Amino acid sequence: MLLALIAVFMFGRTLRRRRERYGILFYNLLIFAALIIRLIWPKYLVMDTFILIAILIVFLAFGNPDFHLDLRGNAFNRLALSEYLEENTGKLRLVPFGVVIRNYHEMRDLYESSQMEEGLIMIAKYLKRRSPKGILFYCRRGRFIILDQPGKDFREETKAITERFDHPWKSHSAELYLSAGFATFDSIDGNFSSEILLSTMLKALESVGGAELEEPLNVTEVDIKRTETERGIRQCIENALDGDGFELYLQPIIDAKTGKITGAEALSRIRDADGNIIPPGLFIPVAENSGRINKLGELVFDRTCNYIKENPLEKMGIEWINVNLSPLQFLCADLDERYSSIIEKYGLDPNTVHLEITEEAMIDDRFLQKQIKAMGEKGFLFVLDDYGTGYSNLSRLKKCPFINVKLDMSIVWDYCREPDDILPNMIQAFKNMGFSITAEGIEDEDMVNTMKNIGCDLLQGYYYSKPVPASEFAGLS
Ligand code: C2E
Ligand code: MG
Ligand code: MG
Repeated sequence: MLLALIAVFMFGRTLRRRRERYGILFYNLLIFAALIIRLIWPKYLVMDTFILIAILIVFLAFGNPDFHLDLRGNAFNRLALSEYLEENTGKLRLVPFGVVIRNYHEMRDLYESSQMEEGLIMIAKYLKRRSPKGILFYCRRGRFIILDQPGKDFREETKAITERFDHPWKSHSAELYLSAGFATFDSIDGNFSSEILLSTMLKALESVGGAELEEPLNVTEVDIKRTETERGIRQCIENALDGDGFELYLQPIIDAKTGKITGAEALSRIRDADGNIIPPGLFIPVAENSGRINKLGELVFDRTCNYIKENPLEKMGIEWINVNLSPLQFLCADLDERYSSIIEKYGLDPNTVHLEITEEAMIDDRFLQKQIKAMGEKGFLFVLDDYGTGYSNLSRLKKCPFINVKLDMSIVWDYCREPDDILPNMIQAFKNMGFSITAEGIEDEDMVNTMKNIGCDLLQGYYYSKPVPASEFAGLS
């Protein structure tokens, strides 16, 4: 007993769940109680009873099947899959095969959850019948994973299951018409952690569930490595948030009339453990998915304000710096308070830091208006970034008090390659609405002239300068 208690204290931390820790403690307490009773009243033979209860407690804390089952016992759950993968790290012999209910959420709304649950149970039973030697897991949201024997013909399997899905799933209380998507996985040789494997599998199933793929999606080691890289990036984001490896870059924005630098765009960079730069195209989506974008966005904003405080803009001959705001940040109801408290901390004028949002932030019209109004009351000004990549129309833009519209480099390049009437007319329409226009992605002198001629007020691109570390920016003007 003493040894057991020492073990609990030494290794207790490796037990992830509280119930397991308490289970072990309670087990020992019971045996201890039994021991005491035995010493005090040796003629009562209750030791066995206590030991049985203690074993039952350990079983319920660790091996209770209810923790691992789903769909009324017809499939194991995600926790079970995660534990199975963990126990078999590096020696997984079975091959995963994914079956997903397409458009699960819409279907669930349509059929209501009780009918859907009924349907899922029927599907689970069917899949189990099809793979008697496999292990069936249900990972919520219509996602099934079967760990099956290697060498199984998954193409055939896909065909057969698709055919079954052409008929309704019928019981006395339900009749559902569903369609399924599939993911096949190469057998996994590498020594990947169970967490990475599971995350890759679920991501693949997620993308199959929303797409109309004819063929099953094949997941290879490359995808697993990508997940691993993403995990690495997450760590770099955490380090950046702790102030390690984050850098502020600035790219000048030029006044088309005078050819002088009149502003800049703040762009963030983070570094990996070897000191290599990770571009924002890679780490911004990861920060968005992992819920760290708000913190990261605030860090960029804070650093930009700090930079302006230490390098007054008028001394550098510029008027403002643009900072990007992710669509997810734009959804924060208290964005106005968060950002104005940073502005106040540095004693700046909020209209020296313009906020760039993309059309993705414009999904909900009413919220957009409300947010821009709240931010406007605090003195913030908005710029529409990457115009031409989203789906906003002119009448929606009219309602938003942007001060500037930045044409995405794809439409700038398109126009320079093949001029037409559309872009000049659009620019004219924007100007009539009172927006000034920036052309992004200006890479040579011809582009400068072309975009100037059709009315762009501001120009940004490698022709003038690539983004440079903030410390080198003052030297540009
Ligand atoms: P963006 O806001 O449209 O920024 C302009 C991007 O175009 C920058 O890429 C810039 O380096 C690049 N660029 C500028 N001129 C040229 C050119 O002449 N040719 C080419 N090929 N590229 C040019 P970067 O820095 O890699 O940033 C990519 C995107 O990542 C940004 O697009 C922005 O949407 C996002 N991003 C960057 N920093 C932040 C940030 O701090 N917060 C948020 N939310 N997003 C950021
Ligand atoms: Mg931008
Ligand atoms: Mg842009």
